[in-house]
Amino acid sequence: MISHEGRYQTQYVIYTEINNYEVGNGAYRSLSILLKVLIPVWKGGKNPVIISGDTLYIKLGGDGRNGGRKQNHVMITFCLLNEKDNVLKPDHQYSICLYIGKEKYETLDKVGKIFAVQLADLKESGIIDGDGVHWPIKFYFSGDWKFTYIIMGLNAPNSEYFCLFCECDAKSRHNMDLSWPPTGNIRGKKRVSLFPVVDLHSYIPDELHILLWISDRKLKKKMNDLNIHFEFYRGGSARGNSEEEISKFEEDVKNWVRTFCWPTIGQMNSATSIPGLYRKEDVTPYMHMLTMHVPYCMHQLKEKGLSLRLFSTSSIEKKNHNQVKLFFRGTTMGGGKKKTSCCL
Ligand SMILES: [Zn+2]
Repeated sequence: MISHEGRYQTQYVIYTEINNYEVGNGAYRSLSILLKVLIPVWKGGKNPVIISGDTLYIKLGGDGRNGGRKQNHVMITFCLLNEKDNVLKPDHQYSICLYIGKEKYETLDKVGKIFAVQLADLKESGIIDGDGVHWPIKFYFSGDWKFTYIIMGLNAPNSEYFCLFCECDAKSRHNMDLSWPPTGNIRGKKRVSLFPVVDLHSYIPDELHILLWISDRKLKKKMNDLNIHFEFYRGGSARGNSEEEISKFEEDVKNWVRTFCWPTIGQMNSATSIPGLYRKEDVTPYMHMLTMHVPYCMHQLKEKGLSLRLFSTSSIEKKNHNQVKLFFRGTTMGGGKKKTSCCL
């Protein structure tokens, strides 16, 4: 746990020691330099977040936003998942890039290229801190579906081969008896992935958007009718859920989707019947993700002592909002008068 004062000092060090630089339409910061500043903070204090021998689990995140004044921009952040629940606070998300441009492949391609060499080096060699301690690094990525499919070079969710992880086609999506291991989606791949340091299994669906989707009103009503609840997500502890809970969850969501696209439950026109609201074609890419891939992600994260709740983008979105206000005030890019470097 880092004290308030410690946090303040860290921010101060970052502010004074790290040179931000602007290239074209963006402001960037070196991930390696930021890590060298942050590692002493993470390993210091009474309750260090990392100890010698640990791997740094670094989650890259992205968020695109219209920042007002008709400016589109993209922000790339990172956080250290070893910090556990603290990563859910916006000030534990560090931005390494703010780029003015639309959230599309061509824009993000430029961002990806700027970081490519540095990220590849960090993945391969890790980082050595000021005390000579070597820290291996593993990268994760999490963002909303749109940002993620762009980064992965894949098709949009409304295409035939829609999935981020497998080659399930839209027509087979409703069939919960099929199994879709995450072996990649070559058929839906249009272009090269923009962050090749992230392995396929390290793209994690973000929790916020799963929750947003589940809280859709029509769905909620249907779920209430069927007596299905997803407190599972909200109630998950910092340690995550047990293996049994995850397996039970998988079974429950699959049964739920089966029920979801069932024409009618119970005797037609009887008092207890629940009329079916949905067709097979209404089973969405999110439902596929939730049933076929989320349980796998959960099992996999659990092995590393992590949990899905750490992959919420809500803190990044909050940070994006704050950051953008600062950024457009501080540079000429947003039409401001004074040009200063951008800092978080
Ligand atoms: Zn899939």
